[in-house]
Amino acid sequence: MAFTKELRTELVSLLGEDWVKDDPVTLYTYRCDGLTLYTAPPMGVVFPGNRNELVEVVKKLHSRKIPFVPRGAGTGLSGGAVPREQSVIIEMARFKEIHDIDWLNRTITVGPGVINLRISEKVQPDGYHYVPDPSSQKSLHHRRQRRRKFRRSPHPQIRGDREPCAGSGNGAPGR
Ligand SMILES: Cc1cc2nc3c(=O)[nH]c(=O)nc-3n(C[C@H](O)[C@H](O)[C@H](O)COP(=O)(O)OP(=O)(O)OC[C@H]3O[C@@H](n4cnc5c(N)ncnc54)[C@H](O)[C@@H]3O)c2cc1C
Repeated sequence: MAFTKELRTELVSLLGEDWVKDDPVTLYTYRCDGLTLYTAPPMGVVFPGNRNELVEVVKKLHSRKIPFVPRGAGTGLSGGAVPREQSVIIEMARFKEIHDIDWLNRTITVGPGVINLRISEKVQPDGYHYVPDPSSQKSLHHRRQRRRKFRRSPHPQIRGDREPCAGSGNGAPGR
């Protein structure tokens, strides 16, 4: 089942035509996540681009008692982003901001659309590296805005052999 005409019109006026999808190909694509055992086509998929749009989408769905499922890259392996047939997927891939790097605690706060590779690229000039499964660097998003741990690279070519700034006090080179 696709969006009703009224809901679709409201969502399009909020997000724009490109960010409201309920065509058969999209519904098929979003019928499951990394766990392909369980599938159900959603009612539709929306792609809010900022916090205000996200809040408005949630309000519109909630006022109609339509269930929704947030989704990052859909790579989870436990079926958490599998929709129900009458639910809407809220796709968070457009939230790509890197908000803050805490060099002292080696954590980074990012939007849920930031993939692992962007974190590695961001901290690499300062001699750090984000090290989950290397094969996941280009595919995995983060579930929600959250802090991720990164560490100082043991490899001189990644570190660039840069030394900590005098007086930085926290071992964070170049900061
Ligand atoms: C090839 C491959 C390699 C992997 N490697 C690793 C690895 O190295 N390390 C690791 O930890 N995991 C790994 N995983 C597992 C999986 O990718 C992670 O669990 C990943 O972090 C899921 O992120 P996602 O954005 O794809 O979440 P999704 O699958 O989209 O969602 C996962 C759950 O979080 C919820 N959710 C999504 N976005 C939000 C949001 N913004 N707010 C609230 N809830 C939300 C969803 O509803 C769902 O319940 C791997 C998976 C694959 C397929």
